[in-house]
Amino acid sequence: MTNGALVLFSGGQDSTTCLAWALDRFERVETVGFDYGQRHRVELDCRKTIAASLRESYPNWAARLGDDHTIELAALGRISESALTRDSAIVMQENGLPSTFVPGRNIMFLTMAAALAYRRGLTHIVGGMCETDYSGYPDCRNETMRALEVALNLGMESKFILETPLMWIDKAATWQLAEKLGGEPLVSIIRDQTHTCYLGDRGQLHDWGYGCGTCPACELRSKGYALYRRDHD
Ligand code: ZN
Repeated sequence: MTNGALVLFSGGQDSTTCLAWALDRFERVETVGFDYGQRHRVELDCRKTIAASLRESYPNWAARLGDDHTIELAALGRISESALTRDSAIVMQENGLPSTFVPGRNIMFLTMAAALAYRRGLTHIVGGMCETDYSGYPDCRNETMRALEVALNLGMESKFILETPLMWIDKAATWQLAEKLGGEPLVSIIRDQTHTCYLGDRGQLHDWGYGCGTCPACELRSKGYALYRRDHD
């Protein structure tokens, strides 16, 4: 196997930062996106624009960035009752989880990614999971990742490494990481071209990017950006 990585790339801030992180480290990087019937396909549409911008602005990375894969997981959207896959309100549920939680999503994404990485001969699987200032999704926790890594390696007789470079950093530090990896141009690409908003709103460009500004994802993103700028200036 070569020194290669497969990045779970959704077109959001976190996964784009992870893609830059992987391009900085690995000789060969491929990307995978999942179409699971999410209410808003805008993130998926952003992926191509972002990859094209990275290629244009960073020739070193362009040489490393290989195939992009899309995996159809419509069954996940059909099974799930989440506010990300149904037209329902984003609320906190009785079990303490937001209604945007899609049960099994990251477990299924990483399992499919491992199957793809197996075929492509890629040893590292990179994801933007984070348990620092996250929405409380249990499948973003480090413990889940470590258990899944063991299960995948046992079940596929492999030595995959699940890399989660954002696990222990907050959103402000995620912006700092982007700046460290690609300077101000990368910060601009992430700010203007990535998508995080749960409502799929790309009507207005704020200083932290596009979005409705009030959903939990926008709140997290705008707060993180404000902190990053405050420490920066
Ligand atoms: Zn929003």
